[in-house]
Amino acid sequence: MALNYWQALVQGKCPSCRKGNMYKYSIFNPTKFTEMHSNCPVCGFKFEIEPGFFYGAMYVGYAISVATIITVFTAINILYPKADLSIFIGSIVLAVLLMIPVNFRYSRIMMLYFFGNVKYKGEPKQQQ
Ligand SMILES: [Zn+2]
Repeated sequence: MALNYWQALVQGKCPSCRKGNMYKYSIFNPTKFTEMHSNCPVCGFKFEIEPGFFYGAMYVGYAISVATIITVFTAINILYPKADLSIFIGSIVLAVLLMIPVNFRYSRIMMLYFFGNVKYKGEPKQQQ
């Protein structure tokens, strides 16, 4: 069954066939979560569509960090309105550190999905 656009994005699939994985290992692998396939293992689509394409992912990653900081700040403000400043700073630093794998991977995935202008070509034909 083919995935829709958002399912494929969330699962980190190739935007061209929505079947192959963009990353080689699980997001929970602490040393290898950054390793990408250079080409889709299913359809051969080249993920870095032009040299330096993923530099733009830094800006997406920055946006994810800001969203994380605002979310944690707001949550503490609602749950513990009288919390000490050190609680705010410590929680925000911890959240941003824990988000590093998510931030790294989804900044690249979103860069490719939102700014790569990749057309969905459907699943490749089965080879006999
Ligand atoms: Zn593919």
